[in-house]
Amino acid sequence: MKAIRRFTVRPVLPEPLQPLSDLARNLRWSWHTETRELFEAVDPAGWRAADGDPVRLLGAVSAARLAELAGDRPFLDRLTAAADDLDTYLRGERWYQARDGQGAELPAAVGYFSPEFGVTAALPQYSGGLGILAGDHLKAASDLGVPLIGVGLLYRHGYFRQSLSRDGWQQEQYPVLDPNELPLTLVREEDGTPAQVVLALPGRRALRACIWQAHVGRVPLLMLDSDVEENGPGERDVTDRLYGGGSEHRLLQEMLLGIGGVRAVRTYCRLTGQPAPEVFHTNEGHAGFLGLERIRELAGTGLGFDAALEVVRAGTVFTTHTPVPAGIDRFDRELIARHFGDDGELPGVDAERILGLGLETYPGGRPNLFNMAVMGLRLAQRANGVSALHGAVSREMFAGLWPGFDPEEVPITSVTNGVHAPTWVAPEVARLGAAGTSGAAGSASAGSGSGSSRWDAGSEIPDGDLWDVRHVLREQLVTEVRKRLHASWRLRGAQAAELGWIDGVLDPDVLTIGFARRVPSYKRLTLMLSDRDRLRALLLHPERPVQIVVAGKAHPADDGGKRLVQELVRFADDPRVRHRIVFLPDYGMAMAQKLYPGCDVWLNNPLRPLEACGTSGMKAALNGCLNLSVLDGWWDEWFEPDFGWAIPTADASTSDEHRRDELEANALYELIEDRVAPRFYDRGAGGLPDRWIAMVRRTLGTLGPKLLADRMVREYVERLYAPAAHAHRLLDTGTATELAAWKDRTRALWPRVSVDHAEAVAATAVGSTAELGSTLSLRVRIGLGELDPDDVEVQAVAGRVGSDDAIVDARSFPLKPADGPDIEGRWMYEGPLALDRTGPYGYTVRVLPAHPLLATSADLGLVALPTEATGEGAGVLMR
Ligand SMILES: *Cc1c(COP(=O)(O)O)cnc(C)c1O
Repeated sequence: MKAIRRFTVRPVLPEPLQPLSDLARNLRWSWHTETRELFEAVDPAGWRAADGDPVRLLGAVSAARLAELAGDRPFLDRLTAAADDLDTYLRGERWYQARDGQGAELPAAVGYFSPEFGVTAALPQYSGGLGILAGDHLKAASDLGVPLIGVGLLYRHGYFRQSLSRDGWQQEQYPVLDPNELPLTLVREEDGTPAQVVLALPGRRALRACIWQAHVGRVPLLMLDSDVEENGPGERDVTDRLYGGGSEHRLLQEMLLGIGGVRAVRTYCRLTGQPAPEVFHTNEGHAGFLGLERIRELAGTGLGFDAALEVVRAGTVFTTHTPVPAGIDRFDRELIARHFGDDGELPGVDAERILGLGLETYPGGRPNLFNMAVMGLRLAQRANGVSALHGAVSREMFAGLWPGFDPEEVPITSVTNGVHAPTWVAPEVARLGAAGTSGAAGSASAGSGSGSSRWDAGSEIPDGDLWDVRHVLREQLVTEVRKRLHASWRLRGAQAAELGWIDGVLDPDVLTIGFARRVPSYKRLTLMLSDRDRLRALLLHPERPVQIVVAGKAHPADDGGKRLVQELVRFADDPRVRHRIVFLPDYGMAMAQKLYPGCDVWLNNPLRPLEACGTSGMKAALNGCLNLSVLDGWWDEWFEPDFGWAIPTADASTSDEHRRDELEANALYELIEDRVAPRFYDRGAGGLPDRWIAMVRRTLGTLGPKLLADRMVREYVERLYAPAAHAHRLLDTGTATELAAWKDRTRALWPRVSVDHAEAVAATAVGSTAELGSTLSLRVRIGLGELDPDDVEVQAVAGRVGSDDAIVDARSFPLKPADGPDIEGRWMYEGPLALDRTGPYGYTVRVLPAHPLLATSADLGLVALPTEATGEGAGVLMR
């Protein structure tokens, strides 16, 4: 029989056990081992049945057991200690408060918007790296005391659960998540009714959503849920699934996230009295509409569009997460025009201006497409990629938005991702004394960069103990793999009696390689299958075998990805190798937390440079796992031979994909055969793999501290949030209006700005050679039209020149007005140019807009350079 209605009966906890309820509602339990152990003690079998989810555990535990615990003194003492610990954690002064006390100008609050959040497996609202990074960002912010407010959507089906058919084809299930059974609280108005946000849709429809709050330590996470009775059926389904549905569905989700999200933040601040965010951070383009809503708010106070845009840009940070075009949302112009037209969502904000923010109106763009990353960049004065290499790739990729500037000058910086150690480091490793794993890492006294001293403690651990821990973790992984494989085969239709072989799958003494990730094509799930005989030989090597654990979900609409999964599953199903290679379905946080610590080597072979950062290898490294990876993302930045191995890549000119994959796969096999396996199996006098252990030690002690989300969040605060708050504070209504008017005028008058003539005088140069250390005196004639010297900066840009006369490693030197204007409005500028490098050297001259409130001189995308006719002087000086 099917129920016609369901509701949730909440457990009534006896009075002495009340604190359990608060401990279950604050997700800090997910990175606090002692609290998890306390829940386990409530009912060990129930804890396993509830998959380690305290809310489910408390919903299922028997009244008799609760009564027993209510009289259990030792248990109650532990409970009090855990509750006190949480209380201290929530109230204490932390790093942010200490920085604030030192006079740093920090924002009162930051709104952090993301389409997905992976905080814990018990709140499955993520698909992969982007969401888990967002979860780690919230947790590290909480540890550091950063006043963040997270904003996302609550998807009724989350992402999907993956299983396999008999022949290895991916199957998707979408279990319904009941928010009442999740660690969430409904945000209510003062009168007790659920708070709602409302968006107007074309055709007089309305989209409503209620607001659920998760407590992520000190950080509130607000999640909008459109499944409310007041909505029509179409609107109710807006938050049905993460990354499902067509274009319009996606647009509605993003409007709800961005526009509804700002309204939810306003509601939350009104109800709690918390300060409003001064900085808004959009994690990837999906949340970009938040900027439009803030323009609407300001337009309501009488500010014009341009002035409002200035205010919004000053306080917005945009992080781009992928160089893969398919990862960036683009909508048809028509769709956007309809939703933001006259009867649309943002009355009072001109739809043409909105379109102007997102359309790809630059060389190489498609002007009929509205690009969320482009809008993100135009709405944010500060933007970043997520590793040094990805920053460089993003500057190239978006250079079209800053015509006239070299890619190096495109104002997109980078903050390399990090991972939250207390979430990802196995308790066994944490007990060795690793950094950042004790929740104290962010406490006010910890100061900055204090992690390393704690890691050094690890060097006192004897080799034997370290190796024992690695063995214990590998053993736990083997147990976990067999359990999951068994469950998977049962779902694939096998009888328990056929599955005896699973007891022999994997060996706790064999070198274990992990490979788990989503399955977009650039991650190349099946690269390892490129020469199957060679792979089989590696797996079955008589003295130095390897075993491989693979996992990953393909997007439900990606049949190509599902074919890759199937190829891998079929290879692993082969009785000859099935004890040495397994594919585990349903990769998610719970599996990941077991998988990373249990592996010896973490493999990553993306198509360089498409992996923006990659974080799974970081989580593995924090557990003493060595990386074996293509030099992409974070590994390109921090690889050292002591931390693992770099898989060589084919030259960029290799256009034949098949040949490229073959080259890289061969390099991978060779590394495993000749370097990785011998090092693992090479035992020293004491029977231990001394050189391997030395690498583990270096990975934990030297690499580890760089990989922490603490480090990442501190960088965001110091390099992006604080400057954004500062810029935002400078822009009151008057200044913003003035800045907007200045930009408008500068843009209009810019076509008459020119570099008319440049010459080097008083130089010791003879012909076209000069001596190192000498100084040139530059004189240039600049046409400013109706602009003033105050409106511009004139620079000499100099550096080494390549064979094509392009200046590399350019440095700029300001020039000063000496004379003018003449009758045609021309000015003489001059200044010294020091010849500080030997070899071919060159310079040019350029004019840029200048205003004290510009974040960078590339801000407007305007620049005037010498034309071909300007004459010698500008260009190559010496070779
Ligand atoms: C860390 C993590 C990811 C992201 O890993 P990448 O290396 O960035 O691909 C994906 N899924 C889960 C479950 C993770 O824990």
